[in-house]
Order: sequence, then C-alpha cells, then structure tokens
Amino acid sequence: MRTKLFESYKIMNKYTRIFRNLARWRGSALPCKCEVFGLGNKTYEHYNEVAIYVDHRLEQLGATRVFELGLGDDDANIEDDFITWKDKFWPAVCDFFGIEGAGEDVSIRQYKLTEHVDALPEKVYTGEIARLHSYKNQRSPYDAKNPYLAPVKVNRELHGPTSERSCMHIEFDIEGSTMRYEAGDHLAVYPVNNSELVNKIGEVCQVDLDTVITLTNTDEESTKKHPFPCPCSYRTALTHYLDITSNPRTHVLKELAEYCSDQADKDKLKLMASTTPEGKALYQQWITQENRNIVHILEDIPSLKPPLDHLCELLPRLQCRYYSISSSPKLHPTTIHITAVVVEYKTPTGRINRGVTTTWLKEKHPSDPPCLVPIFVRKSQFRLPTRPATPVIMVGPGTGLAPFRGFIQERDIARKEGKEVGDTILYFGCRRRHEDYLYKEELEEFEKNGTLKLHTAFSREQAQKEYVTHLLENNKEEIWSVIGEKNGHIYICGDARNMARDVHNILVKVVMERGKMTEMEATAFIKKMDTQKRYSSDVWS
Ligand code: FAD
Repeated sequence: MRTKLFESYKIMNKYTRIFRNLARWRGSALPCKCEVFGLGNKTYEHYNEVAIYVDHRLEQLGATRVFELGLGDDDANIEDDFITWKDKFWPAVCDFFGIEGAGEDVSIRQYKLTEHVDALPEKVYTGEIARLHSYKNQRSPYDAKNPYLAPVKVNRELHGPTSERSCMHIEFDIEGSTMRYEAGDHLAVYPVNNSELVNKIGEVCQVDLDTVITLTNTDEESTKKHPFPCPCSYRTALTHYLDITSNPRTHVLKELAEYCSDQADKDKLKLMASTTPEGKALYQQWITQENRNIVHILEDIPSLKPPLDHLCELLPRLQCRYYSISSSPKLHPTTIHITAVVVEYKTPTGRINRGVTTTWLKEKHPSDPPCLVPIFVRKSQFRLPTRPATPVIMVGPGTGLAPFRGFIQERDIARKEGKEVGDTILYFGCRRRHEDYLYKEELEEFEKNGTLKLHTAFSREQAQKEYVTHLLENNKEEIWSVIGEKNGHIYICGDARNMARDVHNILVKVVMERGKMTEMEATAFIKKMDTQKRYSSDVWS
C-alpha cells in the first residue's frame, strides 16, 4: 500500500508543479486557487479525512476551488481514482486559467541521461540508500536513509517437513551497532532484486548493465535531483533501487507504448492505460489478475524495446519491507528476530512469482564472511501495558504471532523476576499442528511454566474449519473478565484484514452480552479501549 501511495504522490507532485507554475504565470499566489486530491483507504475509520478537511479549510480561508475535491481509495484502485479524476481536472484547469489544452497528453521526460565512460569507482553508488560508501563506513544512528548492515546469525525453518510453504525464523546480529528496539516494534529490511530478472531487462533493452549513468531532473527547481542515488550502474539501479516485480501502473504503460514497433502492441498498451471501461477491464485482467511485472510485459510484448534510461525513470523505487519484531530486547539485547513467510505463488500465465524480500532472505544463512542485510528499526505503538499486572489477550494466527513472541518473553522475565503478572492469553491459529504451528515447543514451554494461557485452532485438522475467531466466540466469559472487569488489553496481529474486523465484531458482541450494553454502547466501549491504547491492532495485507 505504501508503494502505491508513494507513486500517487509522485504523480501528484508532477502536476502540482505544473499547477504552481500556472498560478505564477497568472501572477497570483497558489493559496488563492486550490485543488485537493486525497490519498486514503476506505478500510480506515477516518477515510481521507485530511483531504476533506484541507479542502474545506482552504475554502473557508477564501481560496477558490478550481475543480471538485478528488478522493483516492487504496483499498480499491487508487491510481484509477486519480486518473479518472485527473481526466476531468485538466480541462477544468484550462478553462479556469483561460488556456488551451494540447489535446493528447504529451510525454515530457523528467530526467536527462548522462553516461559516464570513465567514472571513478569511489564516486559510484553501489546500492547505498543515501550516503555514498555508507555500507563501508557504517555510522549510527541507523534509520531509513542509513540502514545498518546486520549479519544474519540464525535462519531456520519453522514449518514442518509436510508443509508446502516456508516460514523463516531469522536473527540479525546488532551487537555493537548501538541499535535499540522494543517488543512490538517493526524491523525494516531493504531487499535486493533477483539477478535473473535484472539480466533479462538488460537483454531486452540491449544495454550493457555495467554502464554507469546519472539521471538528472530537468526541473532545476525540484528538490529531487535524481530518481535514485546517482551515478550508479544500470545493474545497481535495477538491483537495489527500482521495483521490477510489482504490477506497473497505467502511466508507465502509456509511456512504454511509444516504444512498441508493432502498432497492435502499441494500441494494447495505450488501451490499458486509458480510462475507458474496455481499457480498465483489460488492465485489470492482463496486468492485475494475470499478475504481470515489467519483465513479463517485456517478454510478452516482444516488439516493446524501451530505452533503459527511460524505463529506469518510470519504474517506482524499491521499498523496504516491514516485519513485526518477534523478540524482546530484555531476553535478546544483541539480536533482533523476525518471523517471515516466504512468498511464492503461480500466476494464471503459469509463471512462478517470488516475493522479493523473503526469497532473498531465504538464501541468507550464518556464514563467514557473514551475509549482511540492510535493516533499521521503526518504532511502533504496539506496546505491552506498563504494569505487568494488567492482563492481556493476544490474537495472532500465522505470522501474526510474531510480536506476541516478544511480549510473552517479556512477561515471562517479569514473572521470573517475581513481579505480579496478569493473565497472558494467546490465541494462535494455523492449518495443522505438525505443519505450520510456529514456535510450538516455546509456546508449550511457556504454558507449562505458567507464563501463558494458550488457545490454539488448527483449521484443517477436522472436517469443520476452525479459526481463532471460533475460539474467541467460545470464550466470551474470559474475554469479558479481561477487558470488562480487569481493565486489560487486547491485541490483534496478522496478515488478514478480515480477521481484525471479525475480532472487532466478536468483541462488540461480548461487551453487549456480558456487559449488558446496546450495540451502540458496546461499540463506544471498544472505541474507548482504542483511544486508551487498550485495544491495538497491527494488521497488514
Ligand atoms: P513482495 O515482492 O512484496 O510480493 C508480495 C506481493 O505479492 C503481495 O503484496 C501481493 O501483491 C503478491 N502476492 C503474494 N501472494 C500472492 C498470491 N498468492 N497471489 C497473487 N499475488 C500474491 N510478513 C511476515 O511474514 N511476517 C511479519 O511479521 C510481517 N510483519 C509485517 C508488519 C507490517 C507493519 C507490515 C506492513 C507488513 C508485515 N509483513 C510481515 C509483510 C511483509 O512486509 C512483506 O509484505 C512480505 O514479507 C512480502 O514481501 P516480499 O518482498 O517477499 O514480497
């Protein structure tokens, strides 16, 4: 989702700049004429509230709205929302400023290419995120611009031999790094693209990937001089800086269409980039459902031969991936653990698509010299209550268990230190106990020593599917005791957005039944728990 938002920001920035220039040309300051397009997601409670507020407030302050407020929904297709809105927005702008539109969109290159024939190797980026040589001279503090190269200390399989999938337990060594973390934080990992995919792009574009280049913004006022750290080789750009595996956006297809030597191919790409119903349907089927990335498009449209520098300008930046940290610094001060499922699936075209980060991490094992992974810690709001005596319920099926492993380790330490520790209740679910029961021995040990109350659901072990939500429905008494009577906390974590909604609905039911409240009162009760940080979810999709 973040990638998508980032891309839309990029598109918006481009138009905002044109708009700003137009406003200047008319001799007026931007605040007098305004336009707002919001980037939101309907699954969130406050859908596009900032955009709605800004639009309203600008009007209150006397600004003239050039065109109606646009709202993008990332839960559906945010780019589609944007281009549909933009198609009407531009004529309105032209109308408003009394200028004539050029009709067809003209494609203007944003960056100018320079090839370096004799670049000094020490001046060339080799994958650093911001500072040249930052991977050779590591300096804290470590963050998104300055990740730490952490050695992989452990990488072991958590699934049983009968599982078709793979889930990794990875430990990164942070000793001597000055990096700090807390249970519940996220670990960001910067991945590296698969070299076969990178080489394929080089072959199709018939370019020597070791050519060192710089792409420089033609807009001298722009704060962003280069689309990624330059100078670097095409290979570095495609390996470290550019996203070559997600579905390209329609604006990319539109620009690529110009490089098809076959008219039918050109028309197809243009149609997919258009806002017509046939174009949208074709994009949905050929790109989204059949899950084609840029490499697949180049393979399936052989007449398409884009110049590599333009392709590098069009592709979005490769983003870091986040993982819930599955350890506690109290037990593991010098290592950070993550629990990651390897992404691999077959697409309708028969191709095997592999997740960039998890596939790359799968090959990283303890070795000498060590495998190094660029990481940084992102602080989160997902925290245990400050008083260990407060009871907690944790709902974490699958890899949703990750942050709770850290929580349980912390409560176990507190108990062993003789502190009063409230109930620590975990709801864990998976397919089968011998297949994908993560950290089975550890959890059972915590249960045996009295730290943990464990509820497990194995969805495929009986005819009737059983999930954690079924267990929750059967344990209303215990839930009410924790959240209604003892002022406890409840946490939900996992990769299923629906699960979080289902848990919320069950909680409302529990509060209605046991707390004798109406639906409205029960919803308000849960909402209050949320504002008091007693109801937290860490959910990804
Ligand atoms: P990518 O290259 O990003 O590919 C993943 C994409 O492939 C998906 O977004 C989807 O578009 C597509 N895809 C995947 N499966 C299919 C399919 N069957 N059919 C069609 N398309 C498919 N992950 C964990 O494993 N453990 C965690 O603890 C964890 N914590 C997270 C915490 C947060 C806050 C967030 C935002 C995410 C978390 N994730 C976690 C998810 C993680 O960040 C990555 O998204 C995941 O590991 C995949 O990354 P990748 O680079 O391997 O795959």
